[in-house]
Amino acid sequence: MTSAVDERRAHTGSFTPHEKALVYGHARRWFPELVGAATAFDALPVLDHETSRPWFGRPVDEARYFSSSGTSGEPKRIPWLPSEDAWYVGQKQELFGPWLGGCRRGFISLAVGHNAGSAHLVFEHLGLDVHDAGLSDVTEQCAAVLSFEPDVLYCSPSILIGIVDAMERTGQRPTSVRRVITNGEVLYPAIRARFQRFFGLAADDVMDTYGSTEVGTLAFSCPRCSDYHFLDGLYPEAVLPARLPPDVRPPGAGHDVLAISSLKRTSVPIVRFLTYDVLAGLRRTVCGTSERFSFQRVVGRCDDVVNYGELFSVYELADLIGGALPGARWYVFSPCNDLSVVIEGAEPDGFREELARRYPLHAKLIDLGLVPAPVLRFVERFDEFMERAGLVVGARRKDVRRILTCPLDERWLAGLAADA
Ligand SMILES: [Zn+2]
Repeated sequence: MTSAVDERRAHTGSFTPHEKALVYGHARRWFPELVGAATAFDALPVLDHETSRPWFGRPVDEARYFSSSGTSGEPKRIPWLPSEDAWYVGQKQELFGPWLGGCRRGFISLAVGHNAGSAHLVFEHLGLDVHDAGLSDVTEQCAAVLSFEPDVLYCSPSILIGIVDAMERTGQRPTSVRRVITNGEVLYPAIRARFQRFFGLAADDVMDTYGSTEVGTLAFSCPRCSDYHFLDGLYPEAVLPARLPPDVRPPGAGHDVLAISSLKRTSVPIVRFLTYDVLAGLRRTVCGTSERFSFQRVVGRCDDVVNYGELFSVYELADLIGGALPGARWYVFSPCNDLSVVIEGAEPDGFREELARRYPLHAKLIDLGLVPAPVLRFVERFDEFMERAGLVVGARRKDVRRILTCPLDERWLAGLAADA
């Protein structure tokens, strides 16, 4: 049930009347059908997977389209207009520019997607010489980091882990790197610490940017304080438990589910847009001389989506498993941007080949040594596995989670795995 404290924190406490008027005015100007009869911000709907879907299906003149791997529901094509792109690039330049002062060379490895497409442009506008690794194999990428001698690396965490792993295996260690920017999956503290150790960097030499293909960049880890700050033009709010969709489990105390409003997106309504991300410490802070919307960290998600190397989602995995083993139960263990899947039944012939065939880009990144292959385990006595793992299926569907953030313990599988 919604408490009075929740009400104050999420609504009155979060946005000023002026900010509410800005978001409402933006929604009314660009998306009148969404606003409908709502006469003020508080009456606008929260856009979830279901209610946002029709908006993403509309054709948009002059837009370029990028694929979302499922951060806002079923994978879909996301439009970006040239004006929205210009804002996105400008914003990143503003963010990185002062912090990269003195840097001359930048190395990019972000695979594909909206962010990867614009990263080159952002660095070039900042006057850097750029090496964009694109889809080259991990050995080539390591060689490029050593010979190009970049001052700054701009990589997704999963790919940078692949590069650091490969360099450690061969005893290589670049000495030119002074800054690391990450974008893509969540940058977990242990991974951040590993990058700092390997490249010999201080905490404020690593900047994590957090965003999605739908919204663009949402926030960045501040080199001055340890918080993440939302970018200007974005209005984050904690969604009240009562306004969450029925299949979402409300997060625990001190954690909030994020909805975001953006005044910069005009091709799709990012208006009270539910990201399904769970944040710790969402609040206003003062950093330097400016007041910012901030949070401490991304804790996880409150729906059954995991993105792996940004390339396929659990929606797609469910489709594949459902087709090969109808009715099979399965769980995903993803403690740290990695992926172990335990599936009920015997492994169907050609399952792994079908996985690679359906997600060729993901398969390519594995072949290139940039991300590890997902671990797939087939289990005949699934009830026994669930009991050992402490997986209790509740009476109500919303209590059942497929995505677990704990590691897969081999003891749960001992003697049960069909492939053992
Ligand atoms: Zn700060």
